[in-house]
Order: sequence, then C-alpha cells, then structure tokens
Amino acid sequence: MTHITDLGVAAIRDGFRAGHFSAREVADAFNANVAAAGALNAFIVETPDHAIAAAEQADRDRAEGNLKPLSGVPIGMKDLFATKGVQTTAASHILEGFTPQYESTVSAKLWGAGAGMLGKLNLDQFAMGSSNETSYFGNVISPWRRPGDSAPLAPGGSSGGSSAAIAARLCPAATGTDTGGSIRQPAAFTGISGIKPTYGRCSRWGIVAFASSLDQAGPMANDVRDCAIMLENMAGFDPKDSTSLDLAVPNWEALLSGDLTGKKIGIPKEYRVDGMPAEIDALWEQGIQWLKDAGAEIVNVSLPHTKYALAAYYIVAPAEASSNLARYDGVRYGLRELPDGAGLQDMYAATRAAGFGAEVKRRIMIGTYVLSAGFYDAYYTQAQKVRTLIARDFDLAFQQCDLLLTPTAPSAAFALGEKSADPLAMYLNDVFTVPTSLAGLPAMSVPAGLDAQGLPLGLQIIGRALDEQGVLNAGLAIEERAGFTARAGKWW
Ligand code: GLN
Repeated sequence: MTHITDLGVAAIRDGFRAGHFSAREVADAFNANVAAAGALNAFIVETPDHAIAAAEQADRDRAEGNLKPLSGVPIGMKDLFATKGVQTTAASHILEGFTPQYESTVSAKLWGAGAGMLGKLNLDQFAMGSSNETSYFGNVISPWRRPGDSAPLAPGGSSGGSSAAIAARLCPAATGTDTGGSIRQPAAFTGISGIKPTYGRCSRWGIVAFASSLDQAGPMANDVRDCAIMLENMAGFDPKDSTSLDLAVPNWEALLSGDLTGKKIGIPKEYRVDGMPAEIDALWEQGIQWLKDAGAEIVNVSLPHTKYALAAYYIVAPAEASSNLARYDGVRYGLRELPDGAGLQDMYAATRAAGFGAEVKRRIMIGTYVLSAGFYDAYYTQAQKVRTLIARDFDLAFQQCDLLLTPTAPSAAFALGEKSADPLAMYLNDVFTVPTSLAGLPAMSVPAGLDAQGLPLGLQIIGRALDEQGVLNAGLAIEERAGFTARAGKWW
C-alpha cells in the first residue's frame, strides 16, 4: 500500500476530500517523517503543533462541507518567510530568536487556503548560496547519495532545506524563493520540480529581503501539477508590495496540458557552455525530442549577452543586499552585541561582525564597493545596462519562439565542501538560472533523468513574462515522457 507520505499535494487533497484518510492522519505521518530525519538538518524549527492544528481544522471543515483549496495538506515553509509567533532567521545568527509579530503575505495565503506548517526550512544564509553550506544552523544534507559512497551531497541552494525535505518525503511541497536560481537549482539537484513565477506574481511582503529587484517566491513539489496548485495559492496582488502585479491569478492547474501543438520552443546556443558534462548535453537533446513528440516545433535562438549575466548578477544582487542588510544593526532585530563601554558605532560593528556569516559579509563588501562613489558607474551602472541587454535578448528570442528549453544547472549535485572554498566555482553553478532572474521571467525546473552516478538532472523551461501556463505545460510534457520515478534510498 502506498504510504501517505509518498503522496503529493494533489493526491493528498483529493484523497482527503474523498474520505480516504483524515487530515490529522496526514499531519501525523509527515510529522513523524520530519522527527525521524534530523540527520538531514532540513528544518531549523519543527512546528508539529501548527500542522496538527491546521489538520484538525481541516477535519472539522470537511465534516461541515467547507473545503478549502489546500485543506488537509501540510507543507514546509522556507525560513525566509516571516511567520507570526514562529522564529524566522533567514538561517543567520543575526536573526536568531527573532519572532515576527506578523505573517508574510505568501504564508498567510497558504494558511488561508487550509495548508498547515510542518516547520521552517533551512537555507543558505539570507538565501546567498547554491549549496546550503552558508546556513548558521549547519549544512542541509541531500537525501541523495552516490551509489556505494556515503559522502554527503549538497541539496542545492539556497532553498536546500525545501528540496531535501520534499525529496526525503518530509513534506509534500514547500515554499522556496529564487533570486538567481534558488528554486530551480535545488529542485534539479534533488529530482523534484520547482517554478519561479514572473517577478511580481507573488508578494515579497514579509519575505526577508536579499535583492529586492530579483527576489521572487515560488513553490517546490514532486511534480508539475503540485507546483501549479501551490502557485495558485501563493500568487496574487498585494498592495503591501509596490512591485506586486495587480492581475488575477489564473487557474493554472485546470488549464494544464502536455499537448504543445503549435508551440515553438527555442534552444539558445549560448547555453552550450565549455566543460559541461556530455550527459547534460545528451539530456538536453532528449528533452528536445520529448517536446517535439509533444507537438512543439524547435527553433534555434541566440541570447548573445548570456556570457555577461553572471557578472552582472553578482554586482546587482550584492549591491541590493548591501543596502537591504543595513537594517541589521543590533537596534531593531535579533542579535545585539554590546561590548562593555561601547558606543553606538561599536555596537553596530560588533553585532554585524558576530551576526553575519562569511558569505553574507563577502556580498555586503562587494555590494558596498560597487555602489561606492568612485566605482558606481564602472560597476553598478554598467551591470544595470547589461541587465537591460539581457532582458532585450529574451524579448527578441520570444519573437521567434514561445518558450525556451535549457539545462537547469551545469552539473549534478556536488559533494559538500567541494566548492565551498572557491566562491567563483560556486557562482558558476548559477550560469543557466541567473539570466532569467535578471529579466524577471517565469522559469521552472523539472527532473528529467539521472547522470552516470545515479544523481538527478533537471531541465529548465523559460517563458515570456506572465506565461506560467506555457512553462507549466511544457514542464508537464517533459514529465510525462521522462517518467522520472527515481528516489533517494532511505539511509537517515
Ligand atoms: N546561488 C545564487 C546566489 O548565491 C542564487 C541565490 C538565490 O536565488 N537566492 O546568489
């Protein structure tokens, strides 16, 4: 018999509605998996009582015929979303002990839709990283391992707690945030799906800010349908976020279709980067065949400024981070270091020195440097110009095609420690995800196959602004053909 924790969002929702199990049974089953998986370090805080309270409410609601879209479904919440009364840290010491008096818009929407919270998921500190090795609360360990090798692997980052928890069946879905790839790359590393919607679809209100012009929330789940369901319950206009789009939320789930007849899929030649493993190239070819099989026409396109995207991103994102993180000063939130006899400046310095991790400090220093009077034009202004050119590349490509297909990342999951000493090697892992973020476009990763070592690989679909439906549908076409059923063997 299928265990409840093997089910995804749609199956839990539908099984609960059909009376196959109670919401309380679902919550208990996932709470038990969370409690037994401490070795993965996927959660910073576990909230079994929250999941149980939501489940008991869902059971009462069902008895009264008052079902909500996510009644009976417990989820994980990335610890970048402010949750009222539950510690919210962004995986940083500087926010340790911070308990918000308010709820982020996205999490409030999910609770309003009937979902329950299993806990706050670990992440790279302030969402800065690609491997989940920058968390103050320790590395997240991927449930995946290379066969015959117990070396711990990275679950991707920054939403590595989310990806590990879903892949290990600790939750059927989770929230993620994506500034330069933090939903898509961890999804690819762990064999799950994740979509970053168009910038502005989901409210940023109550999400700890990293780089405000790039940050976007989105769902991570086992499959495309579950992502569509989650996104419908996360997206929507919010007057509290000035960049929130005042648009109705489409019925993405109802309109899912893997039939791509009449669609043109662009293959950007600049994404064939040197040194990429041949098997990722081969999987990309396979993806092209799958989309053709689904009825799509394939066209070759060019995104000529792709090679400048990483450099531009690693100027723009740290610049925004350096101003966003100025608020952590020991006065208002979390940690305060007040050495004996210290003045205000000493308190700022001591608090920030003790509170921020090394990667966060590196970004603040890069950001402050590129924004400084003498270098602003040489770096920041130049990066903004490049960003415009990258967005224009996509506009031109979308005159020839409806969607783009690329690999999600240039490698499968790497071992913990393998890249952490070399920030540039780590940044290179974002090469395929960052351009979409700079352009604000919707993009998703779906699991498509395994590499020679038995580790998951993802394919990325990129769409025009607001065409989440096109992205989800192409994702579904791949999912239907890839038949990806591989799971991490349980060792924890
Ligand atoms: N890995 C990228 C970075 O470190 C992206 C992170 C993210 O999307 N939050 O900035």
